[in-house]
Parts: sequence; C-alpha cells; structure tokens
Amino acid sequence: MTTTRTTAATTTVPAPHWLDGKAYAGTSGRTGEVYDPATGEVRAHVAYASTEDVAAAVASAKAAFPAWRDTSLPRRTQTLFAFRELLNARRDELAGIITAEHGKVLADALGEVARGLEVVEFACGMPGLLKGGMTENASTGVDVSSVRQPLGPVAIISPFNFPAMVPMWFFPIAIAAGNTVVLKPSEKDPSASLWMAELWAEAGLPAGVFNVVQGDKVAVDALLTHPDVRAVSFVGSTPVARHVYETATAHGKRVQALGGAKNHMVVLPDADLDLAADAAVNAGYGSAGERCMAISALVVVEPVADALVAKIAERTATLTVGDGRRGCDMGPLVTRAHRDRVAGYIDAGEEAGAAVVVDGRGVTPDGAAGGFWLGPTLLDHVTPGMSVYTDEIFGPVLSVLRVASYEGAVELINANPYGNGTAIFTNDGGAARRFSSEVEVGMVGINVPIPVPVAHYSFGGWKSSLFGDTHAYGAEGVHFFTRGKVVTTRWLDPSHGGINLGFPQNR
Ligand code: NAD
Repeated sequence: MTTTRTTAATTTVPAPHWLDGKAYAGTSGRTGEVYDPATGEVRAHVAYASTEDVAAAVASAKAAFPAWRDTSLPRRTQTLFAFRELLNARRDELAGIITAEHGKVLADALGEVARGLEVVEFACGMPGLLKGGMTENASTGVDVSSVRQPLGPVAIISPFNFPAMVPMWFFPIAIAAGNTVVLKPSEKDPSASLWMAELWAEAGLPAGVFNVVQGDKVAVDALLTHPDVRAVSFVGSTPVARHVYETATAHGKRVQALGGAKNHMVVLPDADLDLAADAAVNAGYGSAGERCMAISALVVVEPVADALVAKIAERTATLTVGDGRRGCDMGPLVTRAHRDRVAGYIDAGEEAGAAVVVDGRGVTPDGAAGGFWLGPTLLDHVTPGMSVYTDEIFGPVLSVLRVASYEGAVELINANPYGNGTAIFTNDGGAARRFSSEVEVGMVGINVPIPVPVAHYSFGGWKSSLFGDTHAYGAEGVHFFTRGKVVTTRWLDPSHGGINLGFPQNR
C-alpha cells in the first residue's frame, strides 16, 4: 500500500483511470502523490491500478476493437483530424498541465506538444500509409494482393519526461491503423494522459478505443502478461525496458522497448566554437537535462577544450532557473528524490577528481523554497571510469571529456553501452560523413545537437537504448502496429480444376 501524506497544499485533484470513455476510480485503494516540482507541494493523487483494473481496461479495448477495425479509413481519419484540430487549438492548456507536474518551462512544454502534434498529423495520412500491393496474373489467372491489418488491443507504457509527446509517438498511429489502446503513463505526471483522453472523446472517438490505466509496476506487469494485449510500446529506463521486453515477448507479444541514453556530442578542433557552445548549453540543460536526447557527455578533441569550456561556462552563468510559469530558462527536477540523486552524482564526480566549473548545487531559484531545484552544472576533466560518465544521470549536468583525436572520440562512443543519439560539430564535411557512417548510434546530428527525427522518419536508438527491432513512429511505427497478410486469389473457370498434389508454383 502506497501511503499518502497530508501537506499544506491546496486541494489536490484526483488522477483516475479512463476506460470505456469515462473516468474510473479503480478498485485497488492504492494511490500515489503527484508533485508540482516548482513548489514541492502535492498537486494530485493518482490511482494505482490493480491487476483487475488493468483487466477491465483491456476488456474495454477488446470490446471496442471489432467495430473500430471495421470503421472505414475516412471515418477513422476524420476523428484523427478532429483530435488534431482540438489539440492545436488548446495546446496551451496541455502545456500548462505538463509544466505543473513535470516542471519543464512552458516554452519547452509547448515544444513537446508541437512534436506530438507532428505525429498526429502524420497519422492523418493513414489511408496512404496502409495502401497495400497487388499483382495481377502472378500466376496464370491468379492475382496476389497484400494488406496490413491492425493487431487488436495494444499497450503503451510511457516515462515521466514527456508525458504528452511520448504517448503521441505511438497512439495516433495505433488508433489510425485500427487498433485500440491502453496507455499506462508515468505515475509522476499522470494528468496529461487524462486530458488527452477527454480530448479524444470530444473528437468523437468511440468509447473503449483509447483507455488509460494509472499506476506502477503492478499495472505494467499486468499489461505485459495479459493474453489479450497484442503489442507493447514502452519508453523508459534501460533496466525496465529490458524487463518489459523479456516479459512481454515471453508472453507472445510484439514489443518495442526504448531505453535510457548517454548522448555524446563531439567537437572537432575546426568547429565553430560559439555554435558548439550554444548547442551544448541548449542540449545539456534544456528541460533540466531530463530528455532522452539530452547531451550529457561533451567529447572535445584537443586543443580546443579550454576555449570551449570557457565559452560554455560564460553562457551557463546567464541561465535563469525557476518556476517554469515565470519565463525562466530552466525549471526544477521532477521529484526531490531525483534532484538529490543527480546532486549525488555531482558530489561523486568532484570526489573522483572532476573539476566543477559551474556548480548548480547552490542555485538561487526564481521559485518557491520547497521546489526541487538544481542549477546547471559543468564538470570538466571527466574520465570514462567516473560514475558521472558511466551512468545515465538525467539531470542538468554536462561532463567534458577531453580526447586527443577524432578516433579517440568515436572509440569512446562506440564502447558505451547506450546508443540513442549523438552529434558532431565540425566544418569538415568529410569528417562528418565518416562519423555518421561509423558511429554505433541510432540517431546522429551533424551540427545539430538534438537530432530527434521528424514524424515521417522513425525514432529509435541502438544497443541498450532499444530492445526489439522496430523504432517509434514514421514507417516503422505503422509497421509495428499492423501485421501483413497476403491474399492469393483465383476465380475458377468452372471447366478448370483437377487434382494436383504438387507444391503450388507459377505457371
Ligand atoms: P522508468 O523506467 O522509471 O519508468 C518508465 C515507465 O515504467 C513508467 O510508466 C513507470 O511507471 C514504469 N516502471 C517503472 N519501474 C518499473 C518496474 N520496475 N517494472 C515495471 N514498470 C516500471 O523511467 P522514467 O524515470 O519515467 O523516465 C526516464 C527514463 O526514460 C530515462 O532512462 C530516459 O532515458 C528514458 N527515456 C528514453 C526515451 C527513448 O526514446 N529512448 C525517451 C524518453 C525517456
């Protein structure tokens, strides 16, 4: 049983489940606290689903599936267009909810909504994306056609750091392709999912096509093992991604499990150092470093490290940290425990010999004293054995590693167990081309620090950053949420037939 604590906070809002087109309180009696990270106060109590609650949500998705699958593509996409219009018109509301529970500044929350909208817009083109193939006279009098059909109820399990965008990497495509969905958002910021569920209802989506179960490991494990869940899209940390992949595949499900990251940005000596410094600050400290594509390791090829570190330190000193509703550059971390964990990594780095060039531990925020504050921190002379480098920190900490050559930089990146995103800053086209070819990472930026692919490409890392072989959204997303069927057809001439036990072959 999760205990609830009374605080001096104003009245909290409930965050229930959503199934069969309406809010559902659940049966477990378990709840968790949801904080406003900029004040430290409890803002909501989120229901934690029991196995029975999950079964009810899956039953709702299963019951809605046949009619939704058989709904014509124009009708399905009209609902997507209606959702898109509503989301576009009311994006400020959603951004406000994200900021209130995640802490990221409003401008960044709006950016998150915009990137989610891109995938909704991509999914509006589902009739074209689902177009199959047809071969006339594949054999004499025989035609062959291929179609892609929906899977049934699918589960989406998402992390705290993008409570709107990450679910939108998956559900627009899943729904447009004719599947029904059970979303399990992060228990740290559950309200965005409910807001989106209400928006779907307003857009005219039939009840049961989009369901939400709130909760923790109990809810996740119930989804991974439920016999009626056909596929699982997961995004979160690597240990949980591995657990999800192993459990759900063992239960016969199709799985894409996107994990953690350690993203390196390489700066070659010929790079424009001002551009590189701007990029390192933006990608290192944006959203307080709580992005799976954040740059956390800056790999500088000498002799330019001193100059680059000075430029970054100068820029970092100008950043304002505070309540995301007040126009600051950077907000708080998501919980006090996470803030303390990140600060612990800075302590460990310092003890291990890293130079703390900018120290965020004593930051003076523009926000309430109870907020989960940690300022941008720049560590220099970090070495590959330090925990600040080996672990995913997921906070506003940029570590500088100095290497002697381009080869040393690539060797470091390719030896790292993660392979989500990376970037190189250089004016040498040949070096950039070589880097994009030989680096073992799924998403590469050339003078672009956060290379999140646009919606008609696909998002996904390599190595411990993704389990399964299908990336999110784009053509791979459509592939993931559909399965292929090939139909071989012959309309018999009545005089034509006869017995033939041989294996079918083209004639
Ligand atoms: P998390 O792994 O703690 O949680 C993700 C989801 O799994 C949540 O819904 C959570 O309730 C659930 N969960 C947590 N522990 C579980 C357990 N033991 N068993 C079953 N389910 C469990 O991740 P987080 O802290 O919410 O998010 C941050 C992590 O997500 C970082 O590692 C980040 O790199 C990663 N992330 C990756 C991508 C990507 O595209 N690769 C994108 C966003 C975030």
